[in-house]
Amino acid sequence: MIAYDDARALVLAAARPLAAETVTLAAALGRTLARDVKAREAVPPFTKSAMDGYAVRAADTAPAAAASAAVVELEVLEDLPAGRVSRRSVGPGQAVRIMTGAPLPRGADAVVMVEHTETSGRTVRVRRAVDAGDNIGRAGEDLGRGDLALARGALIGPAEIGLLAAAGQARVPVARRPRLAVIATGDELVEAGERMGRGRIRNANGPALTAMARQAGADAAYLGIARDRQASLAARLARTRGADVVVLSGGVSVGDYDLVKAELEASRVRTVFWKVRIKPGMPVFFGRRGRQLVFGLPGNPTSSLVTFLLFVRPAIDCLLGRRAAGAAAGRAVLDEAIVVKPGRTQFQRGRLVGPGPVLKVAPYPDQRSGVLRSMVHGRVLIVVPADTARLEAGSEVEILCADGR
Ligand code: AMP
Ligand code: MG
Repeated sequence: MIAYDDARALVLAAARPLAAETVTLAAALGRTLARDVKAREAVPPFTKSAMDGYAVRAADTAPAAAASAAVVELEVLEDLPAGRVSRRSVGPGQAVRIMTGAPLPRGADAVVMVEHTETSGRTVRVRRAVDAGDNIGRAGEDLGRGDLALARGALIGPAEIGLLAAAGQARVPVARRPRLAVIATGDELVEAGERMGRGRIRNANGPALTAMARQAGADAAYLGIARDRQASLAARLARTRGADVVVLSGGVSVGDYDLVKAELEASRVRTVFWKVRIKPGMPVFFGRRGRQLVFGLPGNPTSSLVTFLLFVRPAIDCLLGRRAAGAAAGRAVLDEAIVVKPGRTQFQRGRLVGPGPVLKVAPYPDQRSGVLRSMVHGRVLIVVPADTARLEAGSEVEILCADGR
């Protein structure tokens, strides 16, 4: 049996980034950037007006600052909507009527908001002085040409897509999605929608683990239920040849029908570890077959899902070359005491309590590993270190976010 940190380190060391592929910007949502992307164009490409108003030489407006009723009169050269470039130059005593987004004409160094002016014919009366640089957006203020727009390993969300589009990037290098196969094992299992029988239970893990894998960015295939017989397991395993990651649930403990470890080894999976000092999920198995990563997760639904979060998700993150591996960690104040038998690192399902100025977390009242409700109502894992018997209410604890990042 090994410690949680050691087990996690072994998984991270085994998961090397996959090759890159190129997708359109529209298809990049949720993918991971495979290479640094530099801005092909400055953003914005030119210095522009940030307001509807008048492009001026700031020095011309100084007298308007002198007395509250003072105004400055300027000659209006032309009207400049967004998308048009002025051929004129703003000289002393001159202005250009300009709309938000239009390139600042030569000679001008500031914009006076329209709200601070009055116009009559070709003359504008400016009531408020501006400083050079007021109400304009500088060329390249978001990104200079050649600047790093996004770094390799970035998770691409809507804002990243916007930035890539602004920088002129139509196609995006992303990490290939890891191919992941899920197999549920157990003679007692019945899929939802199929006929129940005496002594059978519904297969919760197959669908839940497949969903977790998809959410983590994998291309997940669910291969169905293997029965607790060598031939049945071997038949399912034979279909996992092209997978980067194989995830099995159930059958990894020491029961008479727990065949997963032996069958994996028979099919040339090399054991990296079996059994980790954690709760829930102690019997978790991790092995390798060439570059393929194989996880045997315990059958109890909460154990299955928690061990997925602790080991499989970080592995997927590494395969994708993501910057941070695994569930986002943070700290919160414990809302009520936790008392445990020390010896294993525990991951108690908890919920954030609020509102309040500090992040508070409360353990879900039922921590038994067969109770999947704890994962639905407790979206965070409270980490109880292996050597700890008691965590007091009001103490600060480490938490892992079971969903989101
Ligand atoms: P095992 O790890 O195979 O010994 O299973 C431990 C417990 O989890 C048993 O009560 C199983 O019936 C249950 N279990 C195993 N696989 C699943 C599954 N896919 N969905 C729901 N419960 C399961
Ligand atoms: Mg079983």
